[in-house]
Amino acid sequence: MSDTIFALSSGPPPAAIAVVRISGPHAGEALRALAGRLPVPRRASTASLRDPGDGSLLDRALVLWLPGPGTATGEDSAELHLHGGRAVVAAIERALAGLPGLRRAEAGEFTRRAFTNGVIDLAEAEGLADLLAAETELQRRSALAMASGELSRLVEGWRDRVLSLSAQLEASLDFADEDDVAGLPAAFEADCRDLSEALAAWLARPHAELLRDGFRVVIAGPPNAGKSTLFNMLTDTEAAIATPIPGTTRDLLTQPVALDGVPFVFVDTAGLRADSADPVERIGIARAEAASAAADLVLWLGAADERPGGAWQLAPQCDRPDRDAVADPRHAVSALTGEGIASLCADLVATARVAMPAPGAVALGQRQRRLLGECREAVASAAHHPDPLLAAEHLRLARLALDRLIGRSGTEDMLDALFGRFCIGK
Ligand code: GDP
Repeated sequence: MSDTIFALSSGPPPAAIAVVRISGPHAGEALRALAGRLPVPRRASTASLRDPGDGSLLDRALVLWLPGPGTATGEDSAELHLHGGRAVVAAIERALAGLPGLRRAEAGEFTRRAFTNGVIDLAEAEGLADLLAAETELQRRSALAMASGELSRLVEGWRDRVLSLSAQLEASLDFADEDDVAGLPAAFEADCRDLSEALAAWLARPHAELLRDGFRVVIAGPPNAGKSTLFNMLTDTEAAIATPIPGTTRDLLTQPVALDGVPFVFVDTAGLRADSADPVERIGIARAEAASAAADLVLWLGAADERPGGAWQLAPQCDRPDRDAVADPRHAVSALTGEGIASLCADLVATARVAMPAPGAVALGQRQRRLLGECREAVASAAHHPDPLLAAEHLRLARLALDRLIGRSGTEDMLDALFGRFCIGK
């Protein structure tokens, strides 16, 4: 890793300011080559940046010299805060690329160096990726908790408990005489069970995917119930074609929306009718049924006696006096007048908030759940294993799973996939 990397870390030009980051052993030399001097560390100062070849002025900029290891990447770093024009950025990048030992960074390479140099661990890097992708308030708060090391601290705590269980076992093995190796310490089994239950409680918490992908609400019911019109109203779009002709919506239409900072995905479906002769519509109906099964919540716009289990009964088109009354609906709504929509939305937000990870709480992603699950199983197996040597091996596997969770031991392809999620310059 002797290369020194550089990249535009701010958004695409033109912009008011463009920030170019440099990281690696030649960062100081690069800064001196452009600015003519090395500024006082960690103090912003202005400098005339010149072409190292012909000495011509490229820009007047704010520069920062950040000697390692106390930097974001753990390496010598520099930042150039340029005028954010396309040609300014291009000229500076050209000058940097011409310096020996410097090259353009790949996507996520700054963060990857931070991880490799032990400035952040894997869980924090994952949190950072989520933070950059966060679009809603709930996503931002959860990602920030992860990026600030909350999961890492929890994992360290669990790891300490596994290590102390291993120590208990080893002590009992050391002191046991040869005929009595089966004598496990009295508290061992209870301690294993406590840890295993604590991990199970974490595994049972709401998943991060719910936060990332949104709470999935499927709008279902017979043709012409008003599904597409309600979908358009809730998502504030004209995405769905609403017509009086039955069977207009044939495929699923999905639209992500944030309501009150909570991420939702609304799904409009083909009307459910048993007698459709149209093969395309029949496929649409099958998809609608599958979507309802996979939903976090179904809004049912049909007759009460056909309502799928768990679905909310709505009374749609409530502005129309000619519609049959729906007995005891959760909400009566009109997508035409807007009646009942605000209270439906408030109810949806309150329900999704309960199902989602709590604001600012760490939520586990799929990879993290898998490893934590492996750890829990290994601890549970150790609890009542008749052979202390094999129990010790289970505890070793438990520790290994935790190490992989925070990246103390990991596989390269997983790292490639993670850091590939970042943009260039991060
Ligand atoms: P879908 O087949 O269930 O998706 O139903 P649509 O949304 O296409 O609506 C069917 C017809 O009912 C369209 O002509 C809509 O304009 C009308 N419609 C839908 N919602 C309302 C409503 O709340 N009030 C009234 N008066 N008409 C509605």
